[in-house]
Amino acid sequence: MPAYVAGKPPAERPGLVTYKLSSNENPYPPLDGVVEVAAEAARRVNRYPDAGSAELYEALSASYQVPVEEVALSTGAVALIFQLVSAYTGPDDEVVFAWRSFEAYPIAVLAAGATAVKVPVTADGRHDLDAMADAITERTKVVFVCTPNNPTGTSVTQTELDAFLAKVPEHVLVVVDEAYAEFVRMDDAVDGVATYRGRSNVVVLRTFSKAYGLAGFRVGYALAPAPIAATLRAMALPFGVNVVAQAAGVASLERQAELLARVDDLTVERARVVEGVRAAGWDIPDAQGNFVWFALGSEDRCAEFAAAADEAGLMVRPYAPEGVRVSIGEVEANTRFIELLASLP
Ligand code: PMP
Repeated sequence: MPAYVAGKPPAERPGLVTYKLSSNENPYPPLDGVVEVAAEAARRVNRYPDAGSAELYEALSASYQVPVEEVALSTGAVALIFQLVSAYTGPDDEVVFAWRSFEAYPIAVLAAGATAVKVPVTADGRHDLDAMADAITERTKVVFVCTPNNPTGTSVTQTELDAFLAKVPEHVLVVVDEAYAEFVRMDDAVDGVATYRGRSNVVVLRTFSKAYGLAGFRVGYALAPAPIAATLRAMALPFGVNVVAQAAGVASLERQAELLARVDDLTVERARVVEGVRAAGWDIPDAQGNFVWFALGSEDRCAEFAAAADEAGLMVRPYAPEGVRVSIGEVEANTRFIELLASLP
């Protein structure tokens, strides 16, 4: 793996190479071919982008073998979360999601003036789908299922998701947030396309930010029944997906095999980290994303953990008081992290 190094400027940490393991980014730099296409596209930035992002829509439609009408692009999956909540909820409505989960959900709910209903994850960081189904009322308009869940890393199975969907009334939109789908390696994994197809109330979110390593370009998309996708396209910020991002998205799909081979390598690294962490005596949940989760249960423990990591030149992400999330990064960063854990009390 390349020695891409992020984090604090070396000047602040003399002699210590620091690594950023705090944002679930892909540690690989973009492929040269993608950079070249993006640089070429940058020569056209005096012009507005293709407002309809036609090439990227076509490329996604071909990649997933779904009609282009079932795709909605936007400025990162996070923009789609805001579009969904503002399209489908208002001040009298409720939005149900697990907690902890992705922190953009409560922000989008707040922005829409709706009410967030947070259903605690289980002790092992899993969605409590029974409790989430029980939390649905007449006022519920949207439910988020984040799988793998950010920050706890666990995934629901297709069987669990199907059983949950069977309990959800049709007036409720279920958003299956699969930002980390490409990293999942488990039996009975969720098949996003099969899940939304044939249903009227399910939307799947995906992104180029994680597996495809384009976080800085801000491109995400929804796969959904045509009427939902049309609503999302209608609500998107005009020209929200810029010239360079569109070109990089198409170029990445053309190089999908190479990029997904890197994802395979990251899952091997993830297994090494999980094994190392457990060997050091830490009990962590199943990790299906590009990160691992430490349930620490107090503000002090989170702060101590993050400070020890920082001292070792590793930026991690505390979610006090629940725990700390650590991304799978460069091989060297992961090794340093495993060593650090073995030395922590
Ligand atoms: N969903 C989840 C679960 C995430 O963790 C993230 C990014 N951290 C997103 C959506 C948003 O991804 P982006 O806006 O970069 O496409």
